[in-house]
Amino acid sequence: MTLELPYKVLLGKHTRREFRQRMSAGELQACIIPIAATEQHLEHLAMEHDNASIMHISTAVAAQLDPHVIVAPVMNIGISEHHMRHPGTLTAMPGSFLAVLFDAIRSMQSAGFENILVLNGHGGNIAPCEGIWGQFLQRLEINLQFKSYWDFLTSAETDPFLETGRCPGHAQEFETAFALAAFPENVRHDAMHDQADQEPLAANAENGQALIDLTVKNVANFVQGMLDGTEIAEIPAFHD
Ligand SMILES: [Zn+2]
Repeated sequence: MTLELPYKVLLGKHTRREFRQRMSAGELQACIIPIAATEQHLEHLAMEHDNASIMHISTAVAAQLDPHVIVAPVMNIGISEHHMRHPGTLTAMPGSFLAVLFDAIRSMQSAGFENILVLNGHGGNIAPCEGIWGQFLQRLEINLQFKSYWDFLTSAETDPFLETGRCPGHAQEFETAFALAAFPENVRHDAMHDQADQEPLAANAENGQALIDLTVKNVANFVQGMLDGTEIAEIPAFHD
């Protein structure tokens, strides 16, 4: 048995020998570390949504750029204090989350990656990551990028596919359409009517697929730019 797509883009599906051989052949040139959350997504959408969506995007991007990109395991507990009124949500303190994220990045750097994209699928992770990113860059001095996947979408691109115009929102039209297209078993149609927020009702699978395709195309362009040397993270200046 040899490792084929789609498993070939997942770090965890490799044996240590397969990974070592691909690294030493120079085949693997960039790593995506997906980060997300496990948290309430209103009454109708599964709590794994942010993990499932970021893995969906990450694996599709890596497959498009095969054989140069590998996807690390998703960090599936995020910073979700603001969702803790709904039991079942898990949350990490920002310091704990950033400590594990830094160690994951450093592990991939020591495996040989100098192009690492931390691709985020959860709003609560943004401020802590942006606050510390310059220090991560100064410690590691590699092409280490932080982006949320919706950063790659302009409103001109998404407007034709969103009746509410809200992107990404929380468990609303955008995320619900994404789930209807990619993992419809995560959507409870009846429950959409049983809640104050009625925006999810605007979602449909066709628009969800169009939004996913756009995202994958734009993220893949960016990662290709990292490989080509046109997308390079700027390391903040050190004092003399
Ligand atoms: Zn979400």
